Amino acid sequence: MTNTQAEQTLDPDDWDSFRSRAHAMLDAAIDQMINAPQGRVWHPVTDEIKAALQSDLPALGDAQTTDAQMKNLLPYGVGNTHPRFFGWVHGAGTPSNILAEMAAAAMNANLGGRDHVAIYVEKQVIAWVKAIFDFPASASGLIVSGTSIATLIALKAARDRVSDFAARKTGISAGQLVGYTSTQTHSCVARAFDMLGLGTDALRKIPVNANFEIDTDALRAAIKADRAAGLTPFAVIGTAGAVNVGAIDDLDTLADIAAGENIWLHIDGAFGATGILSDEIKPKLRGIERTDSIAFDFHKWLHVNYDAGFVLMRSEADHRRAFSERPDYLKGADRGLAAGNPWPTEYGPELSRGFRALKIWAQLSEHGTEKLGQLISQNCAQARYLGQLVDADPQLERRAPVAMNICCFRYTAPETNLNTLNEEIVIQLQLRGIAAPSTTMIHGETAIRVNITNHRTRRADLDILTAAIREIGAELVGSGSHAAH
Ligand SMILES: *Cc1c(COP(=O)(O)O)cnc(C)c1O
Repeated sequence: MTNTQAEQTLDPDDWDSFRSRAHAMLDAAIDQMINAPQGRVWHPVTDEIKAALQSDLPALGDAQTTDAQMKNLLPYGVGNTHPRFFGWVHGAGTPSNILAEMAAAAMNANLGGRDHVAIYVEKQVIAWVKAIFDFPASASGLIVSGTSIATLIALKAARDRVSDFAARKTGISAGQLVGYTSTQTHSCVARAFDMLGLGTDALRKIPVNANFEIDTDALRAAIKADRAAGLTPFAVIGTAGAVNVGAIDDLDTLADIAAGENIWLHIDGAFGATGILSDEIKPKLRGIERTDSIAFDFHKWLHVNYDAGFVLMRSEADHRRAFSERPDYLKGADRGLAAGNPWPTEYGPELSRGFRALKIWAQLSEHGTEKLGQLISQNCAQARYLGQLVDADPQLERRAPVAMNICCFRYTAPETNLNTLNEEIVIQLQLRGIAAPSTTMIHGETAIRVNITNHRTRRADLDILTAAIREIGAELVGSGSHAAH
């Protein structure tokens, strides 16, 4: 380098103007949160925004247009910060998590390992999770992006334990290990079987009872049949809050079966497991404290801003033996920066990891488990209220019991194809910006599915929803476009 060339950096030349830029963005972010409950639920992305996001790769950057473009994006989310977002299972987020995200970005921490304060924040979160689920202090856990990856991590430990962890080196032979879950399972379980080399055929889908809970007699019979056929049952995956209707399997009985058969019991509790903070759901989760592992999300019913999931494991040894492999360049130490063993990277597939722990810690620290639990109960009461509105309306028909926070129903009309009609009603609700439920199939037929994991929802929002469904339903039936043939 010649001395006529100034050395460069990505830091601002002028910190004062950077400060005003940052304050302006913070104001825009807060305005976004203030305005979130008003207006349309879903703002479809405009052609202008799409075009602006198809520009050439910038060789020369520019802060002003970058900030302007970022601010332009803010309204165009899926709508899950709006009180009438009821689709799938999305958390609503909190304004205060913006602060945690700012602090985390300022530290730019890498939580793969080493001895620094962010690791202690994650350890605090792990200890709190053990307290929430009444797990022993000797248990272990890891913050991850979501329940899908948490499920993969838990089932990897379950898979490896069968061979006393030899499978890590030798792999597994196709079709030998089999696992069990209910027909209400989330697709992430089958995907984990695929990624772990078990194959999705090795996941047995056990039928459910009238409440959509796994039929435990059928489960016992399936395990017996597989053993008789010379196969090795290795895992039962129970569901605490099934995605279709919110059903919770009988976890105590599953724990008995798993203990009797020496099979790993994993729980997919993506949103439902956090119901343990609610007095009304807690009794339904009895037995969850006896499981080998739990996968759940902080970004759903605890409203941590995306993304934040967790895998909790009873056996720290099994967890670490399934993932630990430290090459020389990552060797730990007793002192200095490389201390703090074992490192988080020994509990999952990732090395570099961001500081998700801070926003989780801040959410629990600021709001407390009591209030978070009350908000969960509030959503359940709202779902029951919606169930009453549906039951009181001759045009509406409930399609499943309100198990927790989910109400599935449909609009009815004579001589009409109800599947296409209800699909169109949901699309119209979304397009018109009124509300955003989703659809699902119940007993082979389309239902409007309203999931309330939303601390902004009020009962009046459910009145608006049902009135709009009646109006749109009548309009569509009147236009004759959904007549049965
Ligand atoms: C959302 C959900 C998942 C997947 O969780 P991600 O955080 O999206 O990976 C799994 N199971 C159930 C029951 C869910 O609701």
